[in-house]
Amino acid sequence: MRTFDQNYIDGAFVPVTGEALVDIVDPATEAVVGRARLASGEDARRAVEAAMRAQRAFGRTTVAERVAMLERLQAAMLAHADALLEATITEYSGPVARAKWVADYAAQCFGDAARKLSSYAFERTVGGSIVVMEPVGVSGLFAPWNSAAGTMASKLAAAIAAGCATVIKPSELSPWQAHVVSGAIHAAGLPSGVVNVVTGRGADVGAEIGTHPGVAKLSFTGSTPTGKLIARGAVDTMKRISLALTGKSASLLLDDADLETALPLALGAAFMNSGQACVAGTRLLVPRARMPEVVDRLRSAVDALRVGDPRDPATAIGPMVSRAQYERVQHFIRRGLDQGATLVAGGEGRPSGLDRGWFVRPTVFADVRNDMDIAREEIFGPVLSVLPVESEDQAIDVANDSPYGLQAYVFSADVDRARRVAARLQAGTVLINRVAPDLLAPFGGVRQSGVGREFGVAGMEAFLEPKTITPA
Ligand code: NAD
Repeated sequence: MRTFDQNYIDGAFVPVTGEALVDIVDPATEAVVGRARLASGEDARRAVEAAMRAQRAFGRTTVAERVAMLERLQAAMLAHADALLEATITEYSGPVARAKWVADYAAQCFGDAARKLSSYAFERTVGGSIVVMEPVGVSGLFAPWNSAAGTMASKLAAAIAAGCATVIKPSELSPWQAHVVSGAIHAAGLPSGVVNVVTGRGADVGAEIGTHPGVAKLSFTGSTPTGKLIARGAVDTMKRISLALTGKSASLLLDDADLETALPLALGAAFMNSGQACVAGTRLLVPRARMPEVVDRLRSAVDALRVGDPRDPATAIGPMVSRAQYERVQHFIRRGLDQGATLVAGGEGRPSGLDRGWFVRPTVFADVRNDMDIAREEIFGPVLSVLPVESEDQAIDVANDSPYGLQAYVFSADVDRARRVAARLQAGTVLINRVAPDLLAPFGGVRQSGVGREFGVAGMEAFLEPKTITPA
């Protein structure tokens, strides 16, 4: 049984003053494995003030100094990889392969940022002026539970590269992962106050960071409704905002796609992180003539998926993070049935033999129309909707007929053709014949999937602002 009652503020672990105590429940067993005391608005205020004090000197550090800090952060995250793996699996049951990837990724973010920082031109001549890229200032970074360490690391790497002191607010569902990441940050020995971590709820801790006049920039990853709240709260003090939000990504299987290779990828896109991924490709658009074969193959593939212990490397799908998430998935499976979709695999309830833990049955629906709830709303569980389409044009129209536009996937034997399709898709990223992201390229959403871009140079520039100096 672990207890977490300290946050990382002004270079030290200090007791939090909040009164709320929450149980940490292992989603695979429903056992209480820890307890966390959540931070208060007052803790958040102290963290912001520490960042404001640190910003003065940190904003004037040299590129070489910040590269050295990023390299120390990378080494420290690597040294904490095993602890992070354990926390990720225990706290939200990320399947072991995914949890390992996250632990490596959290370290890699800092290395990537150090490399791009080394070659970045902070000063340019434009017309008769000198344009200087300056750090925007103290930044509030918000992370969701489904990608706690990865989001903390990628946002922090970009902010440090740019010269912004930060206050990080991980989800209240991620105190254990937040503690491990804070330990790595402390071990990296950055100046006090440059990075602060306060784990608490959105209503007090989040709102304090989100509206504090000393915070110049907010970088938020989470759901679209919360992103809208944050944006409204930010406007009074004109904070710069980056929002990485909800998705309902389409996978377009073109009529020339090789099903043997494309379908496992499409299924991987749908069910990654047990379906609890913003970029999950949960709408599979299939030429009508190929539907029977696709449905047969999907049924066999899903029936063969191993659901269970997230620590077992053979497990493809672990439990949902919480009872609430389990209920949400059940609700959408019922909606799919009520609205007339055809159940191909899975269905309501738990998989047989798994009576404890928030396990759901990986589910595939066919004959889904794009106006059904299961095609429009983010379910955040392993539920795939297969929609028949009559033509490539219709596939593009259906893919684009969504309030969201985070990512899309195109599967085709002809890469040039897939690129032509990609050009017409309204999504921040289009992956062709792959599901692995390119971590050096810009990432973010169009429409209600967000504002702004993360990763790579674009991610760092989200924490910079140009100043124009024009001599006579
Ligand atoms: P959420 O919106 O409930 O919470 C995200 C974060 O915001 C948490 O830290 C939460 O405590 C905080 N928060 C809540 N209310 C707040 C407020 N009023 N002020 C400030 N902060 C507040 O999302 P979640 O359930 O943690 O995460 C799942 C969602 O995140 C899904 O919709 C998923 O698609 C999305 N997501 C998006 C991306 C992306 O890159 N686009 C990545 C991962 C997750």
